[in-house]
Amino acid sequence: MSKTPHALVLNCGSSSLKFAIINGQSGESIFSGLAECLGERDARLKWLFNNEKTKQDLPEGASHQQAIDSLVALIHQFELTELITAVGHRVVHGGETFTQSSLIDNDVKAAISKVAKLAPLHNPANLVGIEAAQKSFADLPQVAVFDTAFHQSMPEHAYLYALPKSLYRDHGVRRYGFHGTSHSYVSGEAAKMLQKPLDQTNVITAHLGNGCSVAAIKAGKSVDTSMGLTPLAGVVMGTRSGDIDPGIIYYLTETLDYSTQQLDNLLNKESGLKGLSEISNDCRTLEEAMFDGNQAAKLALDIFCYKLAKQIAAYMVAVGRLDALVFTGGIGENSDYIREQVINQLGFLGLELDDAANVAARFGAAGSICRNDGIQALVIPTNEEFVIASDALRLAQLSEEK
Ligand code: ADP
Repeated sequence: MSKTPHALVLNCGSSSLKFAIINGQSGESIFSGLAECLGERDARLKWLFNNEKTKQDLPEGASHQQAIDSLVALIHQFELTELITAVGHRVVHGGETFTQSSLIDNDVKAAISKVAKLAPLHNPANLVGIEAAQKSFADLPQVAVFDTAFHQSMPEHAYLYALPKSLYRDHGVRRYGFHGTSHSYVSGEAAKMLQKPLDQTNVITAHLGNGCSVAAIKAGKSVDTSMGLTPLAGVVMGTRSGDIDPGIIYYLTETLDYSTQQLDNLLNKESGLKGLSEISNDCRTLEEAMFDGNQAAKLALDIFCYKLAKQIAAYMVAVGRLDALVFTGGIGENSDYIREQVINQLGFLGLELDDAANVAARFGAAGSICRNDGIQALVIPTNEEFVIASDALRLAQLSEEK
């Protein structure tokens, strides 16, 4: 096996742990998997190694530490230990403290803990993963890569809400934005594809997965993005509402007696494509239903595309001049239907869909999907794990040189 440095990438949720060992040069994943239902009866570990999928039960109620212990045992068993030179952790919220990835020390952990009030479900879980990995990989440098960091370049007029300023000053209530590693990666890839220096490239990137967000990127820097204080804001998502009239919250609480718990569940888990279609949160399932004649599925997808096109058009204000619109994420990379609907609504930008290229992109042919000159529409597969691995290896190398 090659001696190219590899990083172990960890993404810890409250009851899950995703992992991958990534080649720092090619971005190839040589071992990946997921521990799920942690803390529950049926905790288990699934992985992919040498094209073979395997599943193993973990002890009942297994913790993150136990999942990492099992992962370490597998890494030894597959003789991958020597390859790993750094551990990269995906951390959801970096608040205003982190504008870039950071080598983890006690101060960094304290800062992550401090901003946990902004992401109470995610940051504590990320910290659990960090602590467990520090125990198991005590000799390796550990690096935190933040979902919010790329968007810290947004100007005040983009990140401030029109609320009393004290809410920002005293409590940090502002737009932070998420999916930063993905927006950053695909904007860099777009500049390469366009053969332009990144600092002269303006793109609007649409990351469309289960969560969806759009970012306006001017001269390589994020200047606005659709998610806000939390990942609930912006465009329609699988189960999240995206932007709604905040007055609806009063109506739900005062008139319909919703508790905060019920509101959270409604807006985060029961809305979006799922709530609109009453069928599924899954774009592919809805497309199949629509092609079978289901009108509710069609309407849900119409609303998804309309709001997305509207958001992209709005970001023309943020970038001023546009080189390319980029589609990425599970939907952005795979759904030629969604791309077609969105691009057709953006014809006034000069975009003309190339039908053959759009369909070809469904089968993994990244690149331009329009036949006009000027503003391009690009499909670019994202690779968040590669960004995390690259940052981990780069910072590990820097710390060694010091
Ligand atoms: P996550 O945000 O969880 O990482 P993904 O980026 O994998 O999610 O995106 C999941 C979404 O991508 C789902 O809505 C799924 O239906 C959609 N998707 C994947 N493949 C296709 C396809 N061929 N056509 C339409 N939608 C697809």
